Amino acid sequence: MTTVSPAAESGGVLTQAMIQVVVLRELDRALVLFPSWVHPFAGLEISPRMRRSYGQAHADGRLRISAQFVGTTALADLEDTVRHELAHLIVGVSAKHGRAWKQVATALGATPRAAGRSTNGDLHGRMADGPFTLVAELLNGEERVIRRVFRRSRRYRDYRYGEAGQRYRIGGEWVRRFRYIDHRAESTGG
Ligand SMILES: [Zn+2]
Repeated sequence: MTTVSPAAESGGVLTQAMIQVVVLRELDRALVLFPSWVHPFAGLEISPRMRRSYGQAHADGRLRISAQFVGTTALADLEDTVRHELAHLIVGVSAKHGRAWKQVATALGATPRAAGRSTNGDLHGRMADGPFTLVAELLNGEERVIRRVFRRSRRYRDYRYGEAGQRYRIGGEWVRRFRYIDHRAESTGG
């Protein structure tokens, strides 16, 4: 798989050095807005093995960015990831994606969502997809594909509408039950 996109030919692809530049720029911006951090920034690691997430923030102040960005045109995703993870360092990783994190992430210019989903084909194709798809069966008979996941969760597997007071709603419709599509037996097609 050595597809060269037009952007690659024009030199518009990300390099390790560009990732560092983006991180330093976003770090400067973030420090101006938020001088006091729960986990002060302690270094950047561009990690070749990260294929499930674009970035990670650690309580020791380290920021990890997936090396899967290198060679792609996904600058917007990179910026969003860096802002997302810096917000974790600022409010503390234990704040998860709660209100405090959302406020800071928004102030930094990130799209405040728990998990990134790239629309950049280069980047998306490099990331590992979980082996299962979570699907919701709604009371009105429709089905909604929720997302690809790496594990089947008991929380969704055991859920039945109305049982033990459980009620999930998606887009204004009640969920009767969830199911997982298992992709492990499917051919990957190379
Ligand atoms: Zn996060």
